[in-house]
Amino acid sequence: MNTNCSTNKTRLTVEKIAVANLPTKIGDFKIAGYRSLNSTEEFVVLFKGEMERNVPTLVRIHSQCLTGDVFGSIKCDCGPQLRKAMEMIEAEGRGAIVYQQQEGRGIGIVNKIRAYALQDEGADTVEANEQLGFAADAREYEQCAEILFDLGLCEVRMMSNNPDKIKALEDAGLRIVERVPIEVQAKQPAAHYLRTKKEKMGHLLDFNE
Ligand SMILES: [Zn+2]
Repeated sequence: MNTNCSTNKTRLTVEKIAVANLPTKIGDFKIAGYRSLNSTEEFVVLFKGEMERNVPTLVRIHSQCLTGDVFGSIKCDCGPQLRKAMEMIEAEGRGAIVYQQQEGRGIGIVNKIRAYALQDEGADTVEANEQLGFAADAREYEQCAEILFDLGLCEVRMMSNNPDKIKALEDAGLRIVERVPIEVQAKQPAAHYLRTKKEKMGHLLDFNE
């Protein structure tokens, strides 16, 4: 196990550009903008409190979901998960959410809508992506993990059910001291989606019918 949280990388591949205050309905946060040094990708981090390496800190990598985060779609659980993560950080007074702008598991919003159209015909979320010629999950989390390291974190309490995200943080040299379940009440259309995530994508959900 990595005990000192040093990164193997000689230099990080992300750069912090700006930090500002962001008061929200849930509480007062700070927002930071990062840019990738090896692509055009941009990242946003919402955080609160002092980021200290020896304090186990709540973190989440939240993957952008326009339909869920903005429009309140109940096809998935993304919007309630984001709000729940913000509420948990607000209650604790410390934590960070990297908002990864890779819509639709990396395939983009228009392709996600194409996948939704296939789902309207009866495909599940994995089958729909495969019918469109995409991997079930095209996201990469390496730079999100680098951002958490750059913020000054080492010991983290990971708010995620996704084993790929957990592995990315470990690979980046962060120490996961706890996995904090983030489960929200799923409305009916999301139930099928969550079952697919659990059964086909290995998500660690305590989910029953
Ligand atoms: Zn979603």
